[in-house]
Amino acid sequence: MKTHYGNYGGQYVAETLMAPLKELETAYEAAKTDPSFRREFEELLHDYVGRESPLTCARRLSEHLGGATILLKREDLNHTGAHKVNNTIGQALLAKRMGKRRLIAETGAGMHGVATATVAALFGMPCEVYMGAVDVERQAPNVERMKLLGAKVHAVSEGSATLKDAMNEALRDWVSNCDDTFYVIGTVAGPAPYPEMVRDFQSVIGREARRQCLEKYGRLPDEAIACVGGGSNAIGLFAGFIDDAAVRLVGVEAGGKGLATGEHAASINGGRLGVLHGAKTMLLQTDDGNVIDTYSVSAGLDYPGVGPEHCHLHDTGRAEYAVINDDEAVAAFEALCRFEGIIPALESSHALAEAIKRAPKLGKDKLLLVNLSGRGDKDMENIMRYKAAHPYSSRA
Ligand SMILES: *Cc1c(COP(=O)(O)O)cnc(C)c1O
Repeated sequence: MKTHYGNYGGQYVAETLMAPLKELETAYEAAKTDPSFRREFEELLHDYVGRESPLTCARRLSEHLGGATILLKREDLNHTGAHKVNNTIGQALLAKRMGKRRLIAETGAGMHGVATATVAALFGMPCEVYMGAVDVERQAPNVERMKLLGAKVHAVSEGSATLKDAMNEALRDWVSNCDDTFYVIGTVAGPAPYPEMVRDFQSVIGREARRQCLEKYGRLPDEAIACVGGGSNAIGLFAGFIDDAAVRLVGVEAGGKGLATGEHAASINGGRLGVLHGAKTMLLQTDDGNVIDTYSVSAGLDYPGVGPEHCHLHDTGRAEYAVINDDEAVAAFEALCRFEGIIPALESSHALAEAIKRAPKLGKDKLLLVNLSGRGDKDMENIMRYKAAHPYSSRA
């Protein structure tokens, strides 16, 4: 079991959580090599999520840009409209195997809360989701979704009443109830073994994309590009290509209003080393070490830290991490709508924006693989608000 990624990762948790983490690690180690566990996981990904997800060539957009060909891995076509469900299915299956009867989760924008509530309904397990009171206000439709799916939503009013406070509350619940409760973490963060486990569940994205690319184009992509919040869709994509040295891995962080303004969510490019959510990682913090709330036009990139493996991939140079600001992401969002008839999530639009920057500088024989982590229907209100506030913003 991998606990550290270079200088990052580990288990920075209360003493009382060491035993439940060990229990989880032991259970996961046994499950991942158990053919019946893998079969059940793969069956649900096929029959419930609708995998495999297609690889779509963005032909008109690529021609318009006049350079490399952009390929889209269509996680937006999964049931629930994003990649998160790949992971929550895996963790719920593991919970069932461990005899845990109750699922808990924390959520910021609400997407992971919805993905957890979804699988709780599927498996008939009670589910409680912690969410900052401010986020409960901001993300009302997702709160309604979770309730429809049968979950109980706790509004957390401690601290700044946002994601980091919800994470603390979820950990507190787990400490008190670990005998019968499974804590479902939504990205490749948290204490070991979560980063490795979530990576494994999401690696189906990269495995499929690699095979699809070889089948269709007879070769690997030149670059694999994904947005990074906590980093699970990016790690899932990278996992398929990490041993292919010729494939450049590109993570894209949310630059919000620009790194210099301090209003962003770029933990690698704009953060410092610290401890968050039980792991050592790069995070946004003040000089005296308090976690700073993130800002981005896309609520799903709001994690104030980043998965420890990304920090290590950054240090070793195996992956590079770019920054895309709100205006560039919105322009990419509009371009995909207009040129391909696909409404992408604003999160995924960050990855797309980076590809749009790179494509014209590359030859027509180059392939840029972009992970379209989710669909954008959920972002309509956000986009309308953004456009009303920025009436002269340019189009790609
Ligand atoms: C949650 C979310 C993200 C960010 O999470 P990662 O763990 O970084 O993948 C990206 N895209 C969509 C559509 C999301 O819902």
